[in-house]
Amino acid sequence: KSGFAALIGRPNVGKSTLLNELLGQKIAIMSDKPQTTRNRIQGVYTEERGQVVFIDTPGIHKPKHRLGDFMTKVAQTTLKEVDVVLFLVDAKEGRGRGDDFIMDKLKSIATPVFLVVNKIDEVHPDELLLIIDDYRKQLEFTEIIPISALHGNNVKTLVDQVFRYL
Ligand code: GDP
Ligand code: MG
Repeated sequence: KSGFAALIGRPNVGKSTLLNELLGQKIAIMSDKPQTTRNRIQGVYTEERGQVVFIDTPGIHKPKHRLGDFMTKVAQTTLKEVDVVLFLVDAKEGRGRGDDFIMDKLKSIATPVFLVVNKIDEVHPDELLLIIDDYRKQLEFTEIIPISALHGNNVKTLVDQVFRYL
């Protein structure tokens, strides 16, 4: 099995940390280049079951300049073509405007979207449930997976679920 996963989320939610955990230090450093209009391959996760190509879609974030609208359209096309979208959020910070901007773009695509709730090491389980509920009210998610990218908690489960949708 092989396929594509788009990893999206506002700055500081832990995208690079998750890629480091999945792919190793070397590749994730390469991925932190300045934003371009094109979609970037961030790394290829390979194991016995197959491969997952992780891609970044810079335009899905709130536009910062004149190219913003064009980039958002490119990003939305990409999100329609991947096998799964991993929408990473920060359990510690909770839902913010950056998340709402992204969820608005996700409303019009049919691709499975996982809500990946990161930094669970920083919140009480009761608080985590409230945060998940808050997101679920905004958008329907195919899977909801709480993780700690920093400590590696539940990252294997995330990978297992991704393979189910390739
Ligand atoms: P990005 O901007 O989405 O790529 O986010 P980064 O991967 O650069 O992470 C931003 C900050 O969050 C860094 O200081 C990370 O160490 C921290 N971080 C990432 N994942 C976790 C996690 O699971 N738990 C905790 N406590 N911190 C995390
Ligand atoms: Mg990063």
